[in-house]
Amino acid sequence: MGAPDIIKQHLIDPEICIRCNTCEDTCPIDAITHDDRNYVVKADVCNGCNACLSPCPTGAIDNWRTMLRGDAYTIEAQLLWDELPAEVPLPELDTAIEGAAAAAPAAPEVTIQSVETSRHTSPRAPWSAAHPYVNLHGVRAPVTATVAGNYRLTAEDASSDIHHIVLDFGTHFFPILEGQSIGIVPPGTDAAGKPHYIRMYSVASPRDGERPGYNNLALTVKRVDQDHAGRPVRGVASSYLCDLAKGDTVQVVGPFGATFLMPNHAEASVMMICTGTGSAPMRAMTERMRRNLAHFRGRRMLFFGARNANELPYFGPLLKLPRDFLDIHFAFSRDPDAPRRYVQDAIREAADAAAALLTDPNGHVYICGLKGMEEGVLAAFDAVCAGAGRNWAELEATMKAEGRLHIETY
Ligand SMILES: Cc1cc2nc3c(=O)[nH]c(=O)nc-3n(C[C@H](O)[C@H](O)[C@H](O)COP(=O)(O)OP(=O)(O)OC[C@H]3O[C@@H](n4cnc5c(N)ncnc54)[C@H](O)[C@@H]3O)c2cc1C
Ligand code: SF4
Ligand code: SF4
Repeated sequence: MGAPDIIKQHLIDPEICIRCNTCEDTCPIDAITHDDRNYVVKADVCNGCNACLSPCPTGAIDNWRTMLRGDAYTIEAQLLWDELPAEVPLPELDTAIEGAAAAAPAAPEVTIQSVETSRHTSPRAPWSAAHPYVNLHGVRAPVTATVAGNYRLTAEDASSDIHHIVLDFGTHFFPILEGQSIGIVPPGTDAAGKPHYIRMYSVASPRDGERPGYNNLALTVKRVDQDHAGRPVRGVASSYLCDLAKGDTVQVVGPFGATFLMPNHAEASVMMICTGTGSAPMRAMTERMRRNLAHFRGRRMLFFGARNANELPYFGPLLKLPRDFLDIHFAFSRDPDAPRRYVQDAIREAADAAAALLTDPNGHVYICGLKGMEEGVLAAFDAVCAGAGRNWAELEATMKAEGRLHIETY
């Protein structure tokens, strides 16, 4: 008899999952599928690569069960769940392992596949982050917000149409922290006649409101008018949001996100790296600090990438911020008057200051924007750390464990 084949089965919590489709979009090997009810993971395909963990806005994706491969929950079973099944008690598995090892002395190694490949570190919030409210309103009970304002942020002749949209929650309790996201329920149905799944949007305003003291928040929404391959398309939720008029109502779920949160201790320094609408959480954090300047004594660096200045949301207001409040580094990839520059190039150019912040035990890093930016940014960190005589791989592990490295790409 051989050793028992034990796996860590990857599961999605149907009670928390907001059916946002992010994990299915993210998984590089199509291990995730869904029906109109649940998102589920195929046990025979998932290799525990963790690529889907940090993009999941709710944490519903981060569930694992140690079990015998033969007992793995099937897709059909998972699609029927309303809640996760209880853990299989480990002692029973230990007994199974011991029994198998005793029965097979010639092959004492227990095969624990996937366990070794799934060394995932779940994202962590900074130790001094405020405690967030999450999942106050699910898809079955969204809250109604009213549009208090909607205007275009990018220049009229810019290729991207990015909007600043203010939603007012009236008397509804909907507390938000900087770095959190909300879900928008687009009205209507898809081509199959099913309700649209919700889309996530980062909140661009601080916890005390877009207008201080008001129960409102701001979003930074880019109208999706072509897909990732450049083909013309009409993005369901982004078009809906960008076309909203003042006074319209919107169905909102959330709030979501418990780790991409700002530190609150006075000595904390932050490095914010973003492209396009990835600037939304950076605006929220910057504004929180600007409104509480006497408290926040650390440094703030911003690396902001876009095709050119016309495509940058919040370009004008950013330029008005004093340099000693925010050390801004722009990177334009399609500026007719300058060579192509990406955020990673700007980080390399500011190597000394970047290395100082990365190696500061109070330094916190936030990366937000389109998928694909992460790789170049982490390579730049590797280079600036090497220049400062530090090993980025070690520092990265420390920063993740300490809740000082935060990445949100979509
Ligand atoms: C945690 C999180 C935070 C987010 N925050 C923001 C935010 O602050 N602002 C914001 O604008 N968006 C944000 N997004 C993305 C947003 O949720 C939607 O995915 C986006 O608006 C497209 O939705 P749609 O319904 O308009 O397009 P869909 O109808 O879903 O897509 C239409 C087509 O366009 C493709 N597509 C989808 N998104 C893009 C894109 N960005 N570029 C090119 N092609 C695309 C799709 O693959 C599809 O083929 C966030 C996503 C996540 C997961
Ligand atoms: S909430 Fe998480 S698990 Fe659910 S569909 Fe979105 S990314 Fe996947
Ligand atoms: S852990 Fe990796 S393989 Fe498994 S579902 Fe997530 S992205 Fe896909």
